[in-house]
Amino acid sequence: MQVYAIPMRTRFRGITTREGLLLDGPAGWGEFCPFLDYDDAESVPWLLSALEAAQVGWPEPVRDRVPVNCTVPVVPPQRALEIVAASGCTTAKVKVADPGSTLAEDADRVAAVREALGPGGLIRVDANAAWDVDAAVPAIQALEKAAGGLEYVEQPCPAVEDLAAVRRRVSVPIAADESIRRAEDPMKVAVAGAADIAVLKVAPLGGVRRALAVAEACGLPCVVSSAVESSVGLAAGLALAGALPSLEHACGLATTSLLTADNTSSPLVVEGGTMAVPRRAPVPDTLVEADAETTAAWLARYLRVSSLAQQR
Ligand SMILES: [Mg+2]
Repeated sequence: MQVYAIPMRTRFRGITTREGLLLDGPAGWGEFCPFLDYDDAESVPWLLSALEAAQVGWPEPVRDRVPVNCTVPVVPPQRALEIVAASGCTTAKVKVADPGSTLAEDADRVAAVREALGPGGLIRVDANAAWDVDAAVPAIQALEKAAGGLEYVEQPCPAVEDLAAVRRRVSVPIAADESIRRAEDPMKVAVAGAADIAVLKVAPLGGVRRALAVAEACGLPCVVSSAVESSVGLAAGLALAGALPSLEHACGLATTSLLTADNTSSPLVVEGGTMAVPRRAPVPDTLVEADAETTAAWLARYLRVSSLAQQR
């Protein structure tokens, strides 16, 4: 087992360093990296996901490459245009409804992204549950107009009932993200008529096989997203995207660029807006080692979460 700590390029989820533990087994390497604010119970599926990669491996993929989106953080329009143009991606995900930006700034940002992508590109926006229903409806309509059409809006509101209410009032499709991964029952989202698309993240769902079961049971088109892992953990997300029976949307897996370094000399990279589906995780041969205190904390966390997982 090895513990890493990699500085992030920009602040994300309030963190500036991504930490985690890498473990190996007969099937390869796995990455256990629940965010630091997750308690032990919420970290159990993250461990199951890492153990699946190390001990069992992943199901056979049905495709060799998957399309991915570029991500546009809260930046001025000119910078947004540059990010999209440099990415080679034909789908862009734009962060909106951040406390640090106004709706007018969000609209200018999506308009710049449209300029970079051209009429054939797809723009999705992610509000990370920042709006209530009455704020979401006019904001989505304004962004749809500025963007000249939106592929979907991700998690406009926190509650499943509110997603359903927004969905009835706007023509833009709704994607559920936080509602799926933190739900007791991810299937409820589909049953409630709250979403058109499900965003799936392998680690919080407990591995590739469990995520495939959620995809099948919810019956919605899926988008696979990362949890900003190093390439070792990201490989599991690509394995899921490679194994989904159908994949209609670009995935949010082009995220290693958010980190200043990677744990491997064979990082998973974007080429022509797509990424290759790996059969196993890359070997961590350039591990960015954590200090002694961080290492001890992760080993203790691993032991606690392991014993909790065994009790279930
Ligand atoms: Mg999201």
